[in-house]
Amino acid sequence: MSLLDKLDAVAAARKALLPEGVEVFGMPIDEIYSSTEAKIGDHRILFLGTNNYLGLTFAPECKQAAHEAIESEGTGTTGSRMANGSYIGHRALEHELADFYHCHSCIVFTTGYQANLATISGLAGPGDVVLIDGDSHASIYDGCRLSGAEIIRFRHNDMADLDKRLRRLGERSRSTLIIAEGIYSMLGDKAPLAEIVELKNAHNSILLLDEAHSLGVLGHTGQGLVEETGLIDEVDFITGTFSKSLGGIGGYCVSNHPQLDQLRYISRPYIFTASPTPATIASTRAALKLLRDGTQLRSQLWDNVHQLYSDLQQLGYRLGPEPSPVIATILDSPQQALALWKGLLENGIYVNLILPPAAPEGSSLVRCSVSAVHTREQMNFVGQAFAKVREVLSK
Ligand code: PMP
Repeated sequence: MSLLDKLDAVAAARKALLPEGVEVFGMPIDEIYSSTEAKIGDHRILFLGTNNYLGLTFAPECKQAAHEAIESEGTGTTGSRMANGSYIGHRALEHELADFYHCHSCIVFTTGYQANLATISGLAGPGDVVLIDGDSHASIYDGCRLSGAEIIRFRHNDMADLDKRLRRLGERSRSTLIIAEGIYSMLGDKAPLAEIVELKNAHNSILLLDEAHSLGVLGHTGQGLVEETGLIDEVDFITGTFSKSLGGIGGYCVSNHPQLDQLRYISRPYIFTASPTPATIASTRAALKLLRDGTQLRSQLWDNVHQLYSDLQQLGYRLGPEPSPVIATILDSPQQALALWKGLLENGIYVNLILPPAAPEGSSLVRCSVSAVHTREQMNFVGQAFAKVREVLSK
């Protein structure tokens, strides 16, 4: 098969799954009105699939900071920090994140995806082992591939399986990096952190926790699962992203291991890409302040989470195992998921459609992400729309 034939096969496979004319992936958004509302075609729609957990994309403090940074430092850095140097903002944000986590070191990356790529491939290498949860995000899988380490998966959140695999490794568990996520991006469930920590200590391994979906969401100051569980000192490396609760783009790794800084000299996804723009860094710094003081926002977020989770449960939808800002409805087939997704869109609600192989264990998901700034009226409207679509689908 030629290179282009292979892409034709991809197009054919997609066409077989999705009806002609239904623009499911990469939907054109015509206007953005706010953190939660936009226009698609002629219709006003409610965003219920973005990861804008604290609704900060339109926060005046963040917009103002970004404007000022563009005025004073320009639109881009046009190169990597290794080659072109680190702006004051890059360094300041690293200090602020280290301070937020009470950690020794922090490195900021251009995306959350690169934060995982750079950290994992910087820590583990050929001859080492990466032991990862089966439901890990693609950036974790890709970081592991880039590392050249042996990749071993344990069943999602299954501690007996993790224990078994660590035992099998014997002495090699000492050069093993265990990776878990604060809140998993597909089903919205949390990692059993206390048990993972116990196992990693028993086997002298290193633990990396990706707090992409839990930053700003869990813990009194929003550090994530490490704060909710009080286990921050037991986690070796924490990665996360600016693209969800912080409403921007970029990523970070924090650690109390001073060796973290060495990644700046060996990690290709840090060295060989342009550094974050001044506007991105400035809005993220402003957002981090709001996130730290965001107890009120977190409480609104969790009110909305509990309302939607219980509404959907009462309507008979099959959901992920626990309420969280990621609320996944699990459908039996891609066709059913597509029908639910389309029905919601026709009712003015835009959510994520996740089809195999992206969803875990061959399932198909319609995934909602709840925001602190969804109003009570919007949440009621969402509940009514899910009820209406369920009636239509069950006919
Ligand atoms: N980790 C997890 C768990 C994620 O869900 C994502 C993004 N969805 C990332 C990392 C990558 O972050 P970003 O999109 O900001 O590059």
